[in-house]
Parts: sequence; C-alpha cells; structure tokens
Amino acid sequence: MNKGFNSICVKDILIEEHHAHVTPIYATSTFTYADLDAAFAYFRGESKQHTYARMSNPTTDAVAEKIALLEGYDDENPIKTYGLLFGSGMAAIATAILTCVKSGDTVVTQANLYGTTNEFLTKKLNDYQVNTIYADLNDVDVLDNLLQNNSSIKLVYIETPANPTLACYNIKELTAIAKQHNAFVIVDNTFATPYLQRPLFDAVDIVVHSSTKFLNGHGTGLSGVLVCKDKEIYQKAHGILKTFGGIISPFEAYLLNNGVKTLPLRMEQHMKNAIILANFLNNHAKVKKVNYLGLTSHQDHHWILQQMKGYGGMLSFEIDTDIDGCIRFLKQIKFCTNTGSLGTADTLITHPCSTSHSNVPEAQRLAVGITPSLVRVSVGLENIEDVITDINQALAVV
Ligand SMILES: *Cc1c(COP(=O)(O)O)cnc(C)c1O
Repeated sequence: MNKGFNSICVKDILIEEHHAHVTPIYATSTFTYADLDAAFAYFRGESKQHTYARMSNPTTDAVAEKIALLEGYDDENPIKTYGLLFGSGMAAIATAILTCVKSGDTVVTQANLYGTTNEFLTKKLNDYQVNTIYADLNDVDVLDNLLQNNSSIKLVYIETPANPTLACYNIKELTAIAKQHNAFVIVDNTFATPYLQRPLFDAVDIVVHSSTKFLNGHGTGLSGVLVCKDKEIYQKAHGILKTFGGIISPFEAYLLNNGVKTLPLRMEQHMKNAIILANFLNNHAKVKKVNYLGLTSHQDHHWILQQMKGYGGMLSFEIDTDIDGCIRFLKQIKFCTNTGSLGTADTLITHPCSTSHSNVPEAQRLAVGITPSLVRVSVGLENIEDVITDINQALAVV
C-alpha cells in the first residue's frame, strides 16, 4: 500500500541495524570494508556500500530519499524518483543546470528569477559559452517561437511561484512545448514545496529546492535538493555533486529531516495566516497593491489551483509611499523579523529592491514589479493578530 504524504514526512527511513527511531547523524568521513576484497569490489563498481562521505552518507541518503518520495508522491500512481542533497540551494541549482547544458547551448528562462540563479546563468555560465535568453514565459507562444528558431536551446528553467511578486508560470504547457523540441525542463519548487506542487508529474526533468526555506522550515541551516525521474540524469547529477563537492553536512541533513516532519502542518498554518494578513493589507488605506495568490486580484489567482494545492505562505505588498516612507515602515517593525530568507516559523519582512534584488538592474526590477515601496512577507506561524498589530503600527508612520 502507498503511504500518505504526511506519513512519508514523519516516518524515517531505516538505515542501520540498531533501529534508531530517528535517522542518526553519521559523522564520519570514511567507511571501512569487511576485508580487502570488499574494498576492491567497491572500486570495481560491484558494491553499493558507503566508502567516502563525498560520494554518499547514510544520513544524507535517507533524507534525500524521503524528499524524493514526496516529489514523486501521488495517492494512486506515485512515480519513481531519485534525490540528492546539497550544501545549499545554489549548489543544487548549479548542478541541475550543468547536468542539462554544455558549451554552445542556450538556456531560456524568466526575467524574475532568484538573484543568484540569475548571476550563475549570466555571469558564470557565459564564461563557458552557455547563453541565457530571458523570455516572457507567461506567453507559451514566445517559448515555442524561440525553440523553433534556435536549435541551441537545450534547457527551459522555470521558477514558480517567483520571488517576490508571486508571478506563476504554467509548468504543464511550457514543458509540453519544451519536450516537442527535446529541451530539458528544470523547476525551482522552493516557494511551493512538494506539499503544494509536484512538477515531476508534468514531464519536468528536474525539480530543485532551496531547502534552506520551507523544507527545513526553522532557519537552522542551508541546504539544497535535486529530484529527478531518470536514472541517467541522476547519475550525471551525482557525478557533478561528487566532483564539485558541494555536499550537505550530515548534521544539516538531520535538521532538514526534522523540518520535513512538520511540513504539511506548517504549510497549512502559513496559508491560514497568509490569507488573513493579505485581506487585512488589501483593505488598508496605505497599501496600494497586495500580491497574494489567494486574492482574486492576483493575475494568476483564477488558474493556479490547477497547478498548486493551495496559495502558499508568501506575499508581497506595495505601500502607497516613496522609498523613504517604505524605509520608515521597515524601521518601525518591532515584532516581525526584518531579514532576508523565507519559510521559517516566524514572520520575516524583506525589502527586495534594496536587499535580495539590489543587484538586478533597476529597469529589469521595475519591469517585473519590484518597486521601491514593495515589501515581501514570509508569513509565519504566530498568532496572526500579533503580526497584523505590528504591521499596522508600522504603516502608521509612512
Ligand atoms: C533562497 C533561494 C535559492 C537559493 O538557495 P540557497 O539555499 O540560499 O543557496 C534559490 N531559489 C529560490 C527560489 C530561493 O528562494
């Protein structure tokens, strides 16, 4: 019988003979062999035992397997998936991209991409003759035209919902077009998590996460995840992980495992709080615009439940003021936490234009709705009244 999603989250995968209830931390760089023949068998590729912790570690592998099961989860027809953990979301993203492209290839992606992913594609991959085209992925015909006219396009890279405006892209339609032209598709599923969105069911090749965010859920460490369905892709990605060395420490994998156990509960509470806060902001005289998928005013509200199971815990809003008024608001915040990152238990407030997106050119920022008075909120698990009281008193000083 297939186990339910929540059950996969809470049950640990047994990895050792002592029957530890919780996946233990294997703090060891190497593993020994029963005898010399076993060692030689390993190096002939005839044995699956652990040998050196850059190749594999029991803690890491168990947590990777759990998250891979969640990305492949379906009540009736789960799919076979393979997972890898990394030391950060960027290590997972860089590995996923390098698995799909080589020198001479082109990547198509969206302009409103996570800042460092943008930097990797333009500043780093450009040095290795990989080009990146930014396209309006809201219009599937744009992608179709590009693919028809440029046979060097080998990868379509999608981040949905996107940071910080929660713009969404249609994974199913974009992937169908990419597949007609034999291009790989990667989806950054950080904002939704597998609880709300499972892109591998739409023929996507690789799902990546910054598990630093909702999957860890407590802000206790950086980590990244790569999940795919194809064994060859998995082996290639593992080869990159092994040679670039961007592994997660088993301690961080342990923390990630702890976080995943409460993922469904947390996501439900993030969403309950987010819709209440979004409605409050929507009715506030000093707020010009609220970007939350659960509001009918959001551009993607009408279709997004075809792709996601809920509206998520992230929102952003524009204060009816200039940059100075916005900074007065941020300085007045007392209860919520003013910081970057997202997906933690407490509410985090960020000013994208001067922090997370400060290295995006101004024209590109404005084109995707990142104005000087835009504030992003990762809605936490507090009593939402306390968050509202704080934001309300801070709005009074703009
Ligand atoms: C944070 C984030 C990343 C990068 O992850 P790190 O764990 O910081 O390396 C990538 N994509 C999205 C959507 C993110 O929010």
